[in-house]
Amino acid sequence: MNADVAVIGVGTMGSMATWQLAKRGISVLGFEQYGIGNDRTAAGGESRLFRTAYMEGKEYVPLLLEARKLWEQLEYETNRKLLTLNGGLTIGDPNTDVMKSLLNSIDEFELDHEILQGKEASERFPQHRLFPEDIMVLDKNAGFLRPELAVVSAVEKAESLGAKIKRYTTVEGIYPDKNGVKIIANGLAYQVGKVLITTGAWTGKLLPQLRKQLIARRLVLTWFAPKNVEEFEPDKFPIFARMRKGYRLTGTPTLDGTMVKASNTKNPEAVLKPDNLNRDVSSEELIEVGEAVEQLLPGLVPNPVRASVYMDAYTEDDHSMVGRLPEMDNTFLISGFSGHGFKMSPVIGKVAADLIVEGETRHSIGHLDPHRYAKA
Ligand SMILES: Cc1cc2nc3c(=O)[nH]c(=O)nc-3n(C[C@H](O)[C@H](O)[C@H](O)COP(=O)(O)OP(=O)(O)OC[C@H]3O[C@@H](n4cnc5c(N)ncnc54)[C@H](O)[C@@H]3O)c2cc1C
Repeated sequence: MNADVAVIGVGTMGSMATWQLAKRGISVLGFEQYGIGNDRTAAGGESRLFRTAYMEGKEYVPLLLEARKLWEQLEYETNRKLLTLNGGLTIGDPNTDVMKSLLNSIDEFELDHEILQGKEASERFPQHRLFPEDIMVLDKNAGFLRPELAVVSAVEKAESLGAKIKRYTTVEGIYPDKNGVKIIANGLAYQVGKVLITTGAWTGKLLPQLRKQLIARRLVLTWFAPKNVEEFEPDKFPIFARMRKGYRLTGTPTLDGTMVKASNTKNPEAVLKPDNLNRDVSSEELIEVGEAVEQLLPGLVPNPVRASVYMDAYTEDDHSMVGRLPEMDNTFLISGFSGHGFKMSPVIGKVAADLIVEGETRHSIGHLDPHRYAKA
């Protein structure tokens, strides 16, 4: 037996699950096809938004509140700054479904927030140009994460607790047997008790039976030069998300004192072969996001100064799959975070450790059950 548990794919979720398993004294063998914290995974691109008021569904709020504590725990254990809570604005028409869902999550969990509109909103956050129907919801428990460093930190901590990670090692097959699970990676065989699959956008490649449920999608991140950088420092410019027909513009304050991230992540296109992701960004894509920025963020020069391409695995309902895999003994899956999983990764890692070690979790994750597709 090479380990109690193998974690396949040590990116966002894999790093957090490895940390959580190692903390419980479980022997873990991780397999990562690239290096740790590399820029080809869904954790690339300098920052990720952390939000607690949640338009994607109020059922996430308890997970997000726990995630916040775990981010602080990881910061404490690794002596690194990973989460900056500088607030978060969601801007839009309160009559739309997403804004209603966001306000619902606030009401139900009495989340710390402010609602601004009209002159008051424009004076407080003049960086945003508003439409007459827009409101601004300021989530006080929001901010940004440093994703690459977070993955590196979780792995570093897990390794210090005894986890073993095989870098540049691709898992080619998983075979449950009477002793647990056999894994073939870079042509060699390994035997473990249980397996956790955290292969993100590559999951359909490793598990072809899930290719239709877990679609890899391509997202383009873009950065813009501010006319006056001081207006876009973290203390003046909270993270933001704006939804309108045709785009979903999200962004962060300047992190390097020269650029501000503002990206359109609406309707990301499907990627048939994740190993052949098109990393070129077309002029059309740059023009489209530039037009949205020109309309909504007049303090930015509307031509992107940086653009990079990433992938995430999407499900049909944009809820991930977290749990045992139907018809594969001793095999667990965490995938399909549909462009919004980073913020919750430490709590999802903890849930995975609960399920693997205890067979159950106290967290409410019914909406993430992989069996919902089997049932359908
Ligand atoms: C551009 C972009 C912006 C986003 N913005 C936000 C945001 O602001 N806030 C937020 O909360 N979420 C955001 N997300 C979503 C979030 O980043 C993802 O949901 C999350 O990172 C997915 O984690 P994962 O572990 O499933 O995938 P990954 O982090 O990609 O990890 C998968 C890992 O598996 C490895 N792997 C795959 N196949 C194999 C194999 N066969 N053998 C060995 N290793 C393998 C890969 O190399 C990779 O390291 C964004 C995503 C993208 C792409």
